[in-house]
Amino acid sequence: MADTNYDVIVIGAGITGLTASKQIVQSGLKCANVEALMFGGLVVNINELDGDTPGSGTDLASNLMMEISDLGVENLSETVTAITRNGAQLVVTTDAGTHSARAVIVASGAKLKRLGIPGETEFEYKGVSQCADCDGPMFKDTEVVVVGGGDSALQEALVLAEYCKRVHLVHRGATFRARKHLIDAIAQHANIVPMWNCVAEEILGGAMVEKVRVRNVATNAATDLACAGFFAYIGLTPNGDFVPAEVARDPSGLLVTDATLQTAMPGLFAAGAVRAGYGGLISHAAAEGNAAGTAVAAQLGK
Ligand code: NAP
Repeated sequence: MADTNYDVIVIGAGITGLTASKQIVQSGLKCANVEALMFGGLVVNINELDGDTPGSGTDLASNLMMEISDLGVENLSETVTAITRNGAQLVVTTDAGTHSARAVIVASGAKLKRLGIPGETEFEYKGVSQCADCDGPMFKDTEVVVVGGGDSALQEALVLAEYCKRVHLVHRGATFRARKHLIDAIAQHANIVPMWNCVAEEILGGAMVEKVRVRNVATNAATDLACAGFFAYIGLTPNGDFVPAEVARDPSGLLVTDATLQTAMPGLFAAGAVRAGYGGLISHAAAEGNAAGTAVAAQLGK
């Protein structure tokens, strides 16, 4: 593809990137949104959003996607590999070519971490999953193991509890760090069994998952839990490998910005789950997209 020139390139079509793109194009700026995968990001895995946002994650993302397309954002289905500077322009290199812009917003989000235990890769699609809403019905009337103690693990355990005979909620700590309403909801479900101070060590089976070996770190006792499914929700890894090394990261690899969401590279902004300080809720994703869009528009004189 030949070089293309925009006022602003937004990288990522999750809620943050879509919201930022909308803000940019409504400011009268020429905007491209670049996304390697399907639009929507992690939110499309959620059938019922909680909080003030009704409907599914896919509904929310689809509506935003239609809005930005109608407003004239160019949606590019490409994988970003690098961002460099060429004079006053930032150059975004993708698997399809190069695009330049006066400013770039990195809203590339994050992916779910994996535990890295034996069997996790071997049994992928054979009982190992990271999408309760997509795969939950396949585990109807079976037992499954969910690992983690944050919002994701508890939210997904609640989804699985609607289908499964029993959900073993394996957590390495003695208390959950999730929000209170999720902790309260877990306590209301007799078929969700928390296993405190426990770690999953290995996933075992034949053609499909058959059991998970769990060790209690307080007693060192190991138990094999008979189950058909395994879901790890142990946090997120930012998608920021293509961002130049001169942009500071925190110890988790999250991009560091100032209060206007600009990184140390002038004209390069970061927002949402790829950024250090992001709050984690969908409302925060939209708020950061708006804030980045507003800050970029102001920098470009709009
Ligand atoms: P998180 O908050 O980082 O929690 C990760 C959990 O996994 C923690 O309980 C942690 O244990 C455990 N963990 C981490 N590494 C582990 C390992 N190697 N082995 C075993 N356990 C491990 O991640 P998250 O729950 O995915 O949430 C990420 C962000 O998304 C948060 O900001 C959250 O609020 C947000 N979120 C929002 C919604 C929503 O809006 N409805 C839903 C889901 C998530 P410790 O507690 O011992 O550290």
